[in-house]
Amino acid sequence: MDTKTDLSKEVIDIVKDTKEYLVFLKESGVAEVFTGHENNPIISKVGSEYPPLEKGGKGGFDQRLSEPGTKARNLAELRERIGDCQRCKLWNGRTHIVFGTGNPDTRLLFVGEGPGEEEDRQGKPFVGRAGELLTKMIGAMGLVRDDVYIANVIKCRPPQNRNPEEDEITACRPFLEEQIEIIRPEVICALGTFAAHTLLKTEVKISGLRGKIHVKDNYKIVPTFHPAYLLRNAGQKHLAWEDLQIIMKELGFDRRFSHETTLGALAAPIYSGRKS
Ligand code: URA
Repeated sequence: MDTKTDLSKEVIDIVKDTKEYLVFLKESGVAEVFTGHENNPIISKVGSEYPPLEKGGKGGFDQRLSEPGTKARNLAELRERIGDCQRCKLWNGRTHIVFGTGNPDTRLLFVGEGPGEEEDRQGKPFVGRAGELLTKMIGAMGLVRDDVYIANVIKCRPPQNRNPEEDEITACRPFLEEQIEIIRPEVICALGTFAAHTLLKTEVKISGLRGKIHVKDNYKIVPTFHPAYLLRNAGQKHLAWEDLQIIMKELGFDRRFSHETTLGALAAPIYSGRKS
């Protein structure tokens, strides 16, 4: 392919991506968008009316953690300690341990279930089809992936993407807990059943947990549907958008959007023409 053809293809891809993103916003009930990331409220606290929980995590406020680079260093040290992990049976079939990516100094942490095929291949969370949707959801909040941190309950891919088993969650849970204690986010968005159950230590269905803020171990946790579920059930995206708005409100940057609650329920599914 020549340079001109490559460029046209790239432009077409960009236009297609932008269109999909805007359709996601519309379908989720967003009537207005803003484009700026200056003074990003997810990192700086500019404009937030909602102060963090007093203690700043289970261990209490720790001044040393607010020094630049400390959280990144502590996460790197944790990753080193995990090493070439064989603490559960999943080590056998994995290509990479998927530790987590993003901004360690963020105020918002997303927690998913565990790596799928693409994540296992690349060693990064949420880089497959569900990840594309998560990226759009983050974009709908006016953010980019590097504004937030993304981690999973389990760090290794289960065979054939089956659900994580109890012993696997038990083996991996301390690492997620340590990631949380290092990052000390103001809000944790639990993506799907396994993340919500692990973080909230409950068996209640995700549909009964979403839609509100839970406080557990001095962290604010907002459960929502997993992006993979939303790919199969596009009619529920407006509910996920409601959950994201709860988070935005909590972090103090919700006023840039106006919300038409019925629009999401009425709109056509964004992925209706594509293969899952
Ligand atoms: N699903 C998850 O829960 N996590 C990932 O990283 C990818 C897909």
